[in-house]
Amino acid sequence: MRVIGLRPTDCILFLWTITSGGGGEGVRPADERRIQITNVSRLRLEPGVRTLLGGWSQEHNVYAFWDARRHTSFGRSPSLQVANETLETAVEIGIATQLRPTAGGQEVVVVVSPSSLLWYLENGAALQNAEGDAPAVVTLADATPEEEREFIDSAATEDQSARRYDLVETMRAYRDAKFRPAVLQAYSYKCAVCDVDLSLVDAAHIVPVSHPESADEVTNGVALCSLHHGAFDSALIGIQSDYRLVVNPARVSRLRDLQLASGLPGFQARLPESIRVPASIEARPSPKNLRLGLELRRWPSTFVA
Ligand SMILES: [Zn+2]
Repeated sequence: MRVIGLRPTDCILFLWTITSGGGGEGVRPADERRIQITNVSRLRLEPGVRTLLGGWSQEHNVYAFWDARRHTSFGRSPSLQVANETLETAVEIGIATQLRPTAGGQEVVVVVSPSSLLWYLENGAALQNAEGDAPAVVTLADATPEEEREFIDSAATEDQSARRYDLVETMRAYRDAKFRPAVLQAYSYKCAVCDVDLSLVDAAHIVPVSHPESADEVTNGVALCSLHHGAFDSALIGIQSDYRLVVNPARVSRLRDLQLASGLPGFQARLPESIRVPASIEARPSPKNLRLGLELRRWPSTFVA
């Protein structure tokens, strides 16, 4: 596995196995799962260090995290619960949250799939601060820009509005954290135009993120180096629905007018006829996305075929 874009983070992780609990049948609710804290009597939270208190469920292959700030010392029956339903939601969509009553108010329990674990370790704090808005995480995992705006605008107070904004940003990063590795892996970490790796390759959205139909799916992505990503986003180069690479004459003449066309012949001569697409058909850009991408970047209609 290749880890992309992970910055070093100071982090202490306490992890136990999630079980269906002791006490025999009928003693605990059937849908309850839990961790039993062992060998730790207190958590000392260090400033600047993210301390995580969690469990792994073999049954679901997901990780659950409780709010470490609310569990710095443990009494005589140290166990923390999570609903089976929350674990199952995370299996289905990759992430889920649940509110859990504690002596000091509600805590947010966050459940993530293994592919989102690194993202959570680095960025998950905003989820634990989301309080009553935490259940919205499931809908925000797949929200359009309009839905995100409505969620922020419908906040009752300024404080809630700021918290909701953080939550929206965090969930955008979550979607991107899934999109980027999937796209880069599909293209073997090389630019689909020039085959360059050099750690200069990024995942470009075909239908721009700002559009309601933009999805963080591999069929809406293409791996491009910095040069070709810039050329693609500024509509100098485009990818047609049959993967042919085209140069935009309107953009070229505009650049010539502005005396910004230096290097154009060499740039153009090095372009292949078509982009290199992933071997797997399901990972290739969808023709519908490619057409919409050209339209939205205002390509002349003759190119949008
Ligand atoms: Zn390139």
